[in-house]
Amino acid sequence: MNLILLGPPGAGKGTQAKRLEERFGLVQISTGDMLRAEVKSGSAIGLEAKAIMERGELIPDSVITAMLAARVEQPDAARGFILDGFPRTTPQAEALDVMLAGKGLVLDHVIELQVDDAKMVERISGRYTCAKCGEGYHDTFKQPKTAGVCDVCGGTEFTRRADDKAETVGARLAAYHRQTAPLLPYYEAQNKLRSVDGMAEMSAVTSDLERILTSGA
Ligand code: ADP
Ligand code: ADP
Ligand code: ZN
Repeated sequence: MNLILLGPPGAGKGTQAKRLEERFGLVQISTGDMLRAEVKSGSAIGLEAKAIMERGELIPDSVITAMLAARVEQPDAARGFILDGFPRTTPQAEALDVMLAGKGLVLDHVIELQVDDAKMVERISGRYTCAKCGEGYHDTFKQPKTAGVCDVCGGTEFTRRADDKAETVGARLAAYHRQTAPLLPYYEAQNKLRSVDGMAEMSAVTSDLERILTSGA
């Protein structure tokens, strides 16, 4: 099973992708995580991407599409994957269709997490992650059970993304509406689009997604 989670920054794509990975034996492919790893390693892609990401703009389609194509070739992707953060433009969606057709693969579901834009700033600016295991947290909506200690690995260091500051969030939401929202009618025309209420509690969103994946409804 191969699926896409669509939605603006902060919609809960990463949170839900991690939950579905375990439940359905899929692998999460997050182009944002991949780019942050490139930036950290100081690679050529990372050097190009860093400033663009800090401005809240999108990496050129050719760069990101090549990176995604190489990732889908990895053996673990053969189990089925959840695309989180890709595609983000119509050319990326078209390139993905060609890539999948070439491999004889299909997209089983494209699921939109529908959220209220005004609330996204709060979601994004409260986001932080365990530095050791990558578990996601939120200042208001998901705090560790013991303050300062990761529930999953016991780590005590946490990180915040450079682009999760209030100044950049507006640019990222604008990029979503201008460049990514046109993918909703694109997938609707392919009869693949489903929408769930991304403003509900995390576990309710997970249940809605599980229902779609298990019944196709
Ligand atoms: P995305 O990958 O779409 O950018 P994340 O999954 O990283 O979004 O979620 C953004 C922030 O909001 C995180 O701090 C996460 O813990 C929190 N969050 C995710 N889903 C919900 C939800 N349904 N309700 C409240 N907070 C949420
Ligand atoms: P979020 O879901 O919270 O917006 P991501 O982690 O998916 O954030 O992406 C962070 C940044 O990485 C984006 O603002 C953009 O600069 C870059 N990026 C990630 N995926 C893509 C993509 N498919 N195309 C272009 N840029 C991307
Ligand atoms: Zn941890």
